[in-house]
Amino acid sequence: MILTARLLLPISSPPIVDGGLLIRDGTICAIDKASALIRDFATEPHDDLGRAALLPGLVNAHTHLELTGLHGRLPLGKSFTEWAIAMLDLRSGLDDEFFAASARLGAATLLRSGVTCVADVTASGASVVPLKAAGLRGIIFQEILGPHPEQAPERLDAAEKALRSLQLQANDSLLSIGLSPHAPYSLSESLLLRCAELLRRQRLPATIHVAESPEEVAYIGLGLGPIATTLLPAVGRHSPSHRICGESPIALLDRAGLLSDRLTAVHGVHIGISDLQLLKQRGVALAVCPRSNHYLKVGTAPLPRCLAASLRVGLGTDSLASNETLSLWDEMRFAHRLYGDTVTAQQLVTMTTLGGAAALGMAGSIGSLAPGKRADLTALAIDRVDDADPYESLLAQASDDSVVLNMVEGKILYQREGAARWTCH
Ligand SMILES: [Zn+2]
Repeated sequence: MILTARLLLPISSPPIVDGGLLIRDGTICAIDKASALIRDFATEPHDDLGRAALLPGLVNAHTHLELTGLHGRLPLGKSFTEWAIAMLDLRSGLDDEFFAASARLGAATLLRSGVTCVADVTASGASVVPLKAAGLRGIIFQEILGPHPEQAPERLDAAEKALRSLQLQANDSLLSIGLSPHAPYSLSESLLLRCAELLRRQRLPATIHVAESPEEVAYIGLGLGPIATTLLPAVGRHSPSHRICGESPIALLDRAGLLSDRLTAVHGVHIGISDLQLLKQRGVALAVCPRSNHYLKVGTAPLPRCLAASLRVGLGTDSLASNETLSLWDEMRFAHRLYGDTVTAQQLVTMTTLGGAAALGMAGSIGSLAPGKRADLTALAIDRVDDADPYESLLAQASDDSVVLNMVEGKILYQREGAARWTCH
């Protein structure tokens, strides 16, 4: 099949006005001007998307789909610790039915917003079924936490069982399974060490929230602050369960053996130069979630510095417990306003496609439109293309509502009725 559009953004090569792709057996076989493809492959069926931008499917590098139903249920304007305590309270009253309905809604929202690949953290396991049914690609991370050192063996056993169950459910899908130790402050040092050993033994992908808030930095470094005095006591922990030696959250993870090229660190708001060097040395990827950080008032991640250091960086929405939408278009636009000229529209679109794919270890097969890559892509209706900066004009016009096509492995998973003019020859 030849798929053509007014604007093709391959990401790994320059934009092509009136460009197209040749797709066979779920793989991109050629990329060129539309006229050249139609001439060279005259017998191939041809679909023209018309006034649309065609680009790689978006990668949501961090979310929790099972919490989609919490939208608006946690008050704005609270501190990180107050939010976390409110979250614990709220979460304890949720059941499997809630998680399943939330995950279904979340997966459907991703599908309609141009996301083709997702890194989803789950405690309940609810996201496997809807993501598999939708045909989306991704990694589902089983969450594990436990601040009491004596809980560590039983928590790890439970996580290993949950991993086996998720792996069985994910058979015959484009989903793989990983582990998500929740955060440096919510696992005892003993459990962090055990997770690191399991990850090495099973060579699993991993993700962890880290260096998210000033409260986390104070607690990990000094054993002080609201995490020590209110959050952990709320779960019955009254003294730190890690060695207090003035280290940063990233340094603690390194000491625990968790930093590796299979780890995606999430947030990274409070990272200094030495943290950045550690992440780089260990090959750790980063998922930044600017709107969630804004919602929780924890600060702003040093994204320009991370990009300049050539870390693998993706963009995530986090869950609707700390964000208004699951739209990566909204996330990119917010980041563009937040970082101003220090992060360009091109860098943001690249982060949200190829960057996310690289963060999840998938850059060899997805994230850009190039011969040999899988045909995971999305298309958006656009009114105009600014030749001087097509990325800027895309960001200015794009929203979930303008997504007209979502394709994974050459299969159309979503197509907006009446939005696109399809011409078949
Ligand atoms: Zn999160």
